Amino acid sequence: MTSSKNSDYNALMQIAPRPEITFTRGAGSYLFDEQGNAWLDFVQGWAVNTLGHSPQAISDALIAQSQTLLNPGPAFYNGPAVKLANRLTTLSGMDQVFFANSGAEANEGAIKLARKWGSKYKNGAWKIITFENGFHGRTLATMSATGKPAFEPLFNPKVPGFTKVPYGDLDAVAAAIDAETCAIMLEPIQGEAGVVPASTEFLQGLRALADQHNLLLMLDEVQTGIGRTGSLFRYQALGIEPDVLTLAKGLGGGVPISALLAKQHASCFDYGDQGGTFNGNPLVCAAALAVIEQVTSEGFMDQVNLSSQALSELLADLSSQYGMGQVRGAGLLLALDTGKIDAPALVKHAFDLGLLLNAPRPNSLRFMPALNVTGEEIIELGKLLEVAIQRSLATAA
Ligand SMILES: *Cc1c(COP(=O)(O)O)cnc(C)c1O
Repeated sequence: MTSSKNSDYNALMQIAPRPEITFTRGAGSYLFDEQGNAWLDFVQGWAVNTLGHSPQAISDALIAQSQTLLNPGPAFYNGPAVKLANRLTTLSGMDQVFFANSGAEANEGAIKLARKWGSKYKNGAWKIITFENGFHGRTLATMSATGKPAFEPLFNPKVPGFTKVPYGDLDAVAAAIDAETCAIMLEPIQGEAGVVPASTEFLQGLRALADQHNLLLMLDEVQTGIGRTGSLFRYQALGIEPDVLTLAKGLGGGVPISALLAKQHASCFDYGDQGGTFNGNPLVCAAALAVIEQVTSEGFMDQVNLSSQALSELLADLSSQYGMGQVRGAGLLLALDTGKIDAPALVKHAFDLGLLLNAPRPNSLRFMPALNVTGEEIIELGKLLEVAIQRSLATAA
């Protein structure tokens, strides 16, 4: 059994090395511990807190809904679920939604939907093309779909039927298609891989291949959806539409809700194929409605794009000043390659300075602040990050 130094923490399974502190409060871009120490948060629960920590709009929605109806059960309609489904289909161009509780569960549903579609309409085709270094979740099927090398030795045997090809390589995708292929599944920007965007040509090429071979194009927008990349959905900036779309992280603004959306021709579940006790309950749907209302409000996305520009310029300046690498990404999902600086060590220095950052790779940092982060908070990030860089360089020398 892996254990922590503080015995109180050991009642929790130790699934990641966590700092020996307990967070007790969050407000906007800041998190506070029991002693009242503050951290500027550019991780935001792994890009889930679309509107920052404990925003008024979500708090109000949860209070009101909790006083009205918590959960009539998934075999009955409820107001917030119906309203949210209609908002999401209108905004996305998809036709139907299945709500779930996490990104992995939405993707698991997408995989089942693709296999169902293949069995109904494509002679039992069941294989799905996924991508090296892609990430789709931690259930057995979504781990199997994931192209993360660290997952390969784990929990074998995996769920079969996922053909992995290099991200961005259209010829490799074409070569991997056979009579048993039913779908192509990918992130439009690989988040866990270190914020690696697919090019417009690649996504458009995949759309064409899917049309040509009668395959479903399934976009995992769990991380990129709900305004994160500067448009409501990433595919809107790439000039294509998927057949199947999954959303999660930002959708509930910190509350666990995910969604599997499909175009009519792909929305082929029959009674009994899919479900879930907590799915689409009014409490989480009310939170998501509050998020959607804010994100689609006048000027909100313009502000995201202005903040994105300010943050990328700041990162590019620091990069050239300290001899680091590329700045990539879109909207408020950005990465900075740290060059010779060890990114996890830099994250520790930042933590000591009161700044929460994430290092998805040994040499890159990921920035995913609240979408309503302020200009002053971006300036504050710049100051703290610069000190963390200086400390990293000093300790490495
Ligand atoms: C986080 C993530 C998932 C998994 O979502 P969970 O809610 O952690 O299950 C799946 N796909 C992508 C692209 C993600 O970023």
